[in-house]
Amino acid sequence: MNRAAFAAFFFVMEYIKAKTILAKLKHAPDSWFGLTYNMNLYRGCQHQCIYCDSRSECYQIDDFSKIQVKENAIELLEKEIKSKRLKGTIGTGSMNDPYMPIEAKEQVTKQALQIINKYKYPVHILTKSDLVLSDINLIKSIGEVYSAVSFTITTADDKLAKIIEPAASSTSERFKAIKELSDAGVYCGVLLMPMLPFINDSEENISALIEKAKQAGAKYIIGWMGMTLRDKQRNYYYEKLDKYFPGLKEKYFARYGNQYSISVPDGLKLNSLFKAKCKEAGIATKMQFYKEDMPEQLSLF
Ligand code: SF4
Repeated sequence: MNRAAFAAFFFVMEYIKAKTILAKLKHAPDSWFGLTYNMNLYRGCQHQCIYCDSRSECYQIDDFSKIQVKENAIELLEKEIKSKRLKGTIGTGSMNDPYMPIEAKEQVTKQALQIINKYKYPVHILTKSDLVLSDINLIKSIGEVYSAVSFTITTADDKLAKIIEPAASSTSERFKAIKELSDAGVYCGVLLMPMLPFINDSEENISALIEKAKQAGAKYIIGWMGMTLRDKQRNYYYEKLDKYFPGLKEKYFARYGNQYSISVPDGLKLNSLFKAKCKEAGIATKMQFYKEDMPEQLSLF
């Protein structure tokens, strides 16, 4: 089943009204992406990654397979952006993917980027979808202030990606998209996480991903040799382990119990390998963030 068919088959859609759209981060800019604001245009996510942290109870999404479109998001964004005194990077993609299949029809992300471009704000987009290419010109234009696109990529193997991230673009499609963005002068890179114990935590996988990232022109790879596991997220993940990786759930129980944040067994060794391979490939392990006095992006990166 292709992505669009999967999306049409499995999801209930509904339109909701949001009260606010731009959330200021408590500790801004954040240390991963340099964000000052976060923006969620949808609730729920069609990509249905088996490890998704957004299933956790604290996010209060009762049914993660129901996709809610914030129908007043654009109106709110324009109103809120006009009232902000502090110009800082707006991030999108932390609790849902802004380029999940429904975006092709709804175009909420596209319209949000038009507003961001109009008010000359910097943006960071986190995605697992090559649909982001449909906004390449907009992203380039925002890049005159600052824009960055990070692709979460966890495995070099398309077949494994299909199991753990069933409705996202394949790994090969994500790398192709990085190449296209990079060739167009867009600052982009990879988020190499989560690392799932006994699944994608191998030296071969990490080395292959770094090599592919280099070939695609990624400017950075941000890595973490672990994953989160809590309440509803853990239950869902363990159901999928039973289905696709029989016997693994018991290994997790024995090793991690009820821990929330876990590291893969060879985490330190893999992290050293990750750093060494990135250095060898000339790829940074941190992003360059937006700064007020930043010269034009294309000349900087
Ligand atoms: S793309 Fe992100 S938000 Fe969507 S299901 Fe996967 S991990 Fe969750």
